[in-house]
Amino acid sequence: MTSTSVVRHRVAPLVTAASALTVSVYTDARLLGYGVPTLLAMACAVSIGLGIANLVKWAFSLADLNVYRCPAVGCTFTAHLTRASAAERRRWQEIAAAHPDHESTYRR
Ligand SMILES: [Zn+2]
Repeated sequence: MTSTSVVRHRVAPLVTAASALTVSVYTDARLLGYGVPTLLAMACAVSIGLGIANLVKWAFSLADLNVYRCPAVGCTFTAHLTRASAAERRRWQEIAAAHPDHESTYRR
């Protein structure tokens, strides 16, 4: 794991939690300002905060994602790897390039 990757894995949970908490508090304050009942405002704020947390987590996961596609025309074989070692990435790159059974959605 590279030092950039280590930093990213330490920073990602903090950024995710901070953004979720910020959006939750902001949403709760806005809803309470319109006279929405406290429990309903909290439920909305928590659900929106969790949605934001999931979105930020997904965005961070894209940085570690490697996708390998079969180069054959019409073949839909793909491999999605996250946090894979160099050997594992190389292995899946070779599998994607030369797998025995090409799935074809291409119609002649
Ligand atoms: Zn293929």
